Amino acid sequence: MTATHINQEHTSSYYAASANTAKPYPSLEDNTSVDVCVVGAGFTGVATALTLAERGYSVALLEANRIGWGASGRNGGQLINGIGGLGDIQKKHGDGIADLLWDMRWRGNEIIRERIAKYAIDCDLRDGYVEVARKPRQIADIEETAEERERRGFPYRYEVWDRAKTSEMLGTDAFHGGFACYRDGHVHPLNLCAGQARAAHSLGAQIYEQSPVIDIEHGSRPKVWTAGGSIEADAVVLAGNAYNRLEPKHLSNLVFPAGSYIIATEPLPDEVANEINPADVAVCDLNNVVDYYRLSSDQRLLYGGACNYSGRDPASIEAFIRPRMLKVYPQLKDFKIEYEWGGSIGIVLNRIPAVGRINGNVYYCQGYSGHGVTGTHLMGEIVADAVGGTLERFDLFADMKHFRLPGSHWMGNQIIALGMMYYKLRDML
Ligand SMILES: Cc1cc2nc3c(=O)[nH]c(=O)nc-3n(C[C@H](O)[C@H](O)[C@H](O)COP(=O)(O)OP(=O)(O)OC[C@H]3O[C@@H](n4cnc5c(N)ncnc54)[C@H](O)[C@@H]3O)c2cc1C
Repeated sequence: MTATHINQEHTSSYYAASANTAKPYPSLEDNTSVDVCVVGAGFTGVATALTLAERGYSVALLEANRIGWGASGRNGGQLINGIGGLGDIQKKHGDGIADLLWDMRWRGNEIIRERIAKYAIDCDLRDGYVEVARKPRQIADIEETAEERERRGFPYRYEVWDRAKTSEMLGTDAFHGGFACYRDGHVHPLNLCAGQARAAHSLGAQIYEQSPVIDIEHGSRPKVWTAGGSIEADAVVLAGNAYNRLEPKHLSNLVFPAGSYIIATEPLPDEVANEINPADVAVCDLNNVVDYYRLSSDQRLLYGGACNYSGRDPASIEAFIRPRMLKVYPQLKDFKIEYEWGGSIGIVLNRIPAVGRINGNVYYCQGYSGHGVTGTHLMGEIVADAVGGTLERFDLFADMKHFRLPGSHWMGNQIIALGMMYYKLRDML
């Protein structure tokens, strides 16, 4: 991790400003021993630690900054089914595993909803997510999604919106149609992450913040080192995603950090909120380089998008994102932007999360390519299964081949920037 990525407080996001109050966890100042040590307390690490704690393992969770400091506490909060790579996995293994993959696609949603209910996590969960077509050709994607739901007898509410309905439901003529799914939805991601950490802690998990792991000593019981202490465990789980710099021999050049940025308006009056989003759904377009937005519980519009692959943050996030928001909602031109922030997405070239094991007992899973709120929760369960010896779902991902870009992170970003320029051009056509 770089110096700007350790021992930090939360970024200046709307989420940090509206986080439920919580006592910070201590940093590691001791040498101790547990069954499983998890490194990184975003959704992947927290979900893994909680699943293991629920199953009776002794667990330690080490975070370089604060719980949910990375992408998990900064994202669009869009709860969208699925995880990258399922299509490729099906191509490799055949239609015989189609039902297993379909279940995996929805498992992350289920886990999140179960945990919010079980642990009474206050995180503004709302039902409803709409994929919108910005180009007439994207209507075909919507029809395909609807056909698949029908074929599968999808038990939850979904709707296809034509252009008029989309305009009525979203208060804009920017879209040609939409697919609304009410099993997907949106949440306050930082409060969801912190609430699950609290649940893991209540089940006995040791949690350490501002404790960056600097080294791993491999062996039959690997030992993880921070500046202040060490933890020995039967298994270690690396969940640092785009911020991970550990195990470079195995993990460098697999996952590349890309910036994504969000602005939050001041709270909108009821009549404006009702005009632009009366059903209070999350919205994401079907472009390759997506724009996404939703209302917060206090009726701000949180509008995000425009991935930046150059490795440099824009000088003003507001100047970068606001014009995109005004293209969809010119009626918001007089509302102030009160928060702006960004975070690092872990991009994998083939969009399949990079999952595997080093020396048999150091597990890693990272690289959700910007679509990880539900996928990380599925992965937490899959990794916990693997630690317990059940590798069926883990190996589906671990056996997938990845293309490594030789060279440094910097070189990788330049190449990805070029690749994304190609996709941006395609979006414009
Ligand atoms: C702006 C933005 C918007 C997004 N919007 C959406 C969305 O709406 N819907 C969606 O599905 N996905 C979205 N994503 C993607 C989603 O947020 C991520 O896929 C997901 O949060 C990844 O979780 P994670 O736990 O793997 O990684 P992170 O949340 O990034 O957590 C990694 C953690 O590991 C810690 N760490 C790293 N190295 C070490 C170390 N050596 N020692 C200790 N700790 C370490 C870091 O400090 C960090 O807290 C978005 C991402 C961004 C950045």
